[in-house]
Amino acid sequence: MNTLFPEVKGRFGFGCMRLPMAGEEVDLDHFAAMTDRFLAGGFNYFDTAHGYISEKSETAIRACLTSRHPRESYILTDKLSGNYFETQADIRPLFERQLAACGVEYFDFYLLHAMSASRYGQYTDCRAFQIVQELKAEGKIRHVGMSFHDTADVLDRILTDHPELEVVQLQFNYLDFDDPRVQSRACYEVCVKHNKPVIVMEPVKGGKLADLPPAARAELEPLGGLSPAGAALRFCASFPNVCMILSGMGSMDMMEDNLSAMSIPGPLGEEEMAAVFRARDVLAAQKAIPCTGCRYCVDGCPASIPIPELFACVNDRAQGRAVSYQAAVEGRGRASQCVKCGKCEEICPQHLEIRSLLARTAQIFE
Ligand code: SF4
Ligand code: SF4
Repeated sequence: MNTLFPEVKGRFGFGCMRLPMAGEEVDLDHFAAMTDRFLAGGFNYFDTAHGYISEKSETAIRACLTSRHPRESYILTDKLSGNYFETQADIRPLFERQLAACGVEYFDFYLLHAMSASRYGQYTDCRAFQIVQELKAEGKIRHVGMSFHDTADVLDRILTDHPELEVVQLQFNYLDFDDPRVQSRACYEVCVKHNKPVIVMEPVKGGKLADLPPAARAELEPLGGLSPAGAALRFCASFPNVCMILSGMGSMDMMEDNLSAMSIPGPLGEEEMAAVFRARDVLAAQKAIPCTGCRYCVDGCPASIPIPELFACVNDRAQGRAVSYQAAVEGRGRASQCVKCGKCEEICPQHLEIRSLLARTAQIFE
């Protein structure tokens, strides 16, 4: 049982921004089997958003979870995403489409998505904070919160303005813990100050902390047989105000690895924590492009540039790994074809300067 939300089982959630894929489509058989395994493993929390996997996540959840399991057997979180509404009048129809896409009559948690200083005005002007409370009063939402991507100061201001928010979803992992841009630690402390439980997203930083270079991996030796992904999850589980840790799992093997790490009770010890921070220091020294591969930027790009794949090429090359830039751009736009419209930067939750990073990418590979 989750001590903060008794209907939630455990502190491990199935993040449905990344799912097993068969080409461009979700591999529904694989996802259904993972869903069953997850529920059988004693957990029940699923997280999605309308835009995840080019709008295929919600319908995959309907096919593999909500149409196959009784409503009381799972907890489903969805989000109100700022790129899907322009006016107050757009919000309720969007919400109803989300319920239909997921095949449910209510959401257990509904989060104002990717809140930041720049999004705050839109959510306020469109009365989003009030509308989600109205939906809660109508029984269509059980709990209201927000997911957040900005500095601790901004978080403090929004939580002060909106004490009715019950929970905050934060990007939280050991690499971003003291990162001046992400501010995982400082944001966590703001949540503690406001008495808001934290849902962790990106605990493995888009898979980066699962696939460590040898020098960083060597630092994790004191954690025994734990995999790098398992170490990243257990780092997050060591913070008492964390009520949920979401992991995006692309295969049954990843799920088994995650389940086994999350079945270990208690926080990391002092020596284990020190080892994790040494691994962090090794990674931080590499100065990789901090793209998490969320793909929010991809659908709106008029030049069809596979932005996260190209940044992965840059990062892999810096680590001395084999890279095929040609394969990454096959049938898609090249970095040099960026028309600098800036749409990707408006939506990137990591606030990356994508245009200048693509110019650097083109310089390296083209
Ligand atoms: S700035 Fe470049 S990469 Fe970004 S959306 Fe526009 S064309 Fe695509
Ligand atoms: S560039 Fe930004 S929006 Fe695009 S995949 Fe990376 S983190 Fe996500």
